[in-house]
Formats: sequence, C-alpha cells, structure tokens
Amino acid sequence: MILVSACLAGVNCAWDGKNKLNKEIKKLVDDKLAIPVCPEVLGGRSIPRTKTEIKGGSGKDVLNGRAKVLDENGLDVTEEFLKGARAALELAKKYSVTKVILKSKSPSCGVDYIYDGSFNRKLVKGNGVTTALLIKEGVQCLST
Ligand code: SF4
Repeated sequence: MILVSACLAGVNCAWDGKNKLNKEIKKLVDDKLAIPVCPEVLGGRSIPRTKTEIKGGSGKDVLNGRAKVLDENGLDVTEEFLKGARAALELAKKYSVTKVILKSKSPSCGVDYIYDGSFNRKLVKGNGVTTALLIKEGVQCLST
C-alpha cells in the first residue's frame, strides 16, 4: 500500500481550500492502491487556513526542536505539524506502507525542497515535517 498527499488525490484540503489534483495519484486512490492523507488537517489545522513555512531550518530540525513552523502572521503552529506527522506515521505503520508520494514544497509534505520561512517563495533544500519523520522511520518518500 502507498500513502499519498490527499490534495494530490483531489481532496480540497490545501491551505486555500483547493486541491492539487494529479490524475495518476487520484487513480491510485480510486483503485484502492493508495491511501490519501493530509497531515496538516490531521494535526488540527482548518480548511482554509493561513499559509505556513518552516523558520530556522527543515522538517528534520523541527523534529529535533531546532526550528519552528510559523504561519504568515507569526503564529507558532509547530505542535499541529508534529501531531499531523505522527498521525501520518501511525497510518503508514497500520497499513505497512513502505512508500509515500507527497506534494512538493509543502512544510508538511515537501520532499527535498521547502520554502525558506521568509514567505517570499524562496526554496531551500530540506524536507517537510511529515516527510522528515517518515524518512526517519524508513519509509521511502517520493515527490510529484
Ligand atoms: S499537508 Fe500535505 S496533503 Fe495536506 S494540503 Fe498540504 S501538501 Fe496537501
């Protein structure tokens, strides 16, 4: 079984209440070959919600307590992101998931690149919080 970012499967769970539909990902879910998951919503964030970026590092740094996730108003939402990441990991374990396909650049789901915390759409190397936790636990993380 594969885990996928829910927004890629057409679920309207992105920060703006929209989705990031990828028809191939949606087909995997429709064919019951993949499970959609939105870590931010599982962590208690609303739909729609404010934009968020990792400040001071990457998802790995957030896991280690060295960086925070802030919203565009400066509100600290790190706990929600950690809660969502743990919930996604639980799902991965429950369904013996070994591979996930995640939405690029997200502070939760980003793989390899995320925004730098300035809200100026500047990318830096690093993974989102959920991605970092899944990788730490041995799950292969791919990006669209
Ligand atoms: S947290 Fe992940 S699944 Fe949820 S909207 Fe953001 S990128 Fe999509």
